[in-house]
Amino acid sequence: MLLDFLFPNYKCFACGCELNAGENIYLCDNCAKDLPINTEPVVLVNPDAKQHFNKAYAAFRYQEPISKMILGLKYNDRAQVATAVAPYMAAALIKGRECPLSALVPVPLCKKRQRERGYNQAELLANEMAKTLGLVVEKNVLLRTKVTTPQKKMTVAVREENLRGAFAVADGADVKGRNFIIVDDVFTSGTTVNECAQALKKCGATKVDVVVIARA
Ligand SMILES: [Zn+2]
Repeated sequence: MLLDFLFPNYKCFACGCELNAGENIYLCDNCAKDLPINTEPVVLVNPDAKQHFNKAYAAFRYQEPISKMILGLKYNDRAQVATAVAPYMAAALIKGRECPLSALVPVPLCKKRQRERGYNQAELLANEMAKTLGLVVEKNVLLRTKVTTPQKKMTVAVREENLRGAFAVADGADVKGRNFIIVDDVFTSGTTVNECAQALKKCGATKVDVVVIARA
């Protein structure tokens, strides 16, 4: 066990091959050069709903190996995935010339789910991005006020109903006149981040942008 700790056997997150010294410690060179980088803008899926965020950025398209890495991050305790993908998310923001005076706000998880998982993946991503971008992470600005059911298989309309009013700005949080960047893992319909953006705007936030690992 101690030897494993001193000389860890790093495997590529994407293909599982053993990594050579000098390679990035998360992905082999082969997988790293073939990532599904996203270049298209991300918008709210439901055209009837009002979009409350200003702009949304996704570092990748939801394809292998990124999809596999996200599942690892969410369901298999692979917290290190956050370290691997956060620089790409930071790069997406920089490319979009997003305001350097923003604070990063991770989408809060239900308390119960966070206990089960041991961490909030959005918070890990925000912490990693903060290192690259020199921004602060404000993890107590948004609260989850409603227990929601996992929405993987829901239609957009049901998702919206499920999430309506699920987020609120914490009492006394300093929001008015400030800019925020909401951080989440996947942008599917955009309902989750849109609800978060609405809560921030309601409390006087000037600009709210969004960054995610991948768009579905
Ligand atoms: Zn690989």
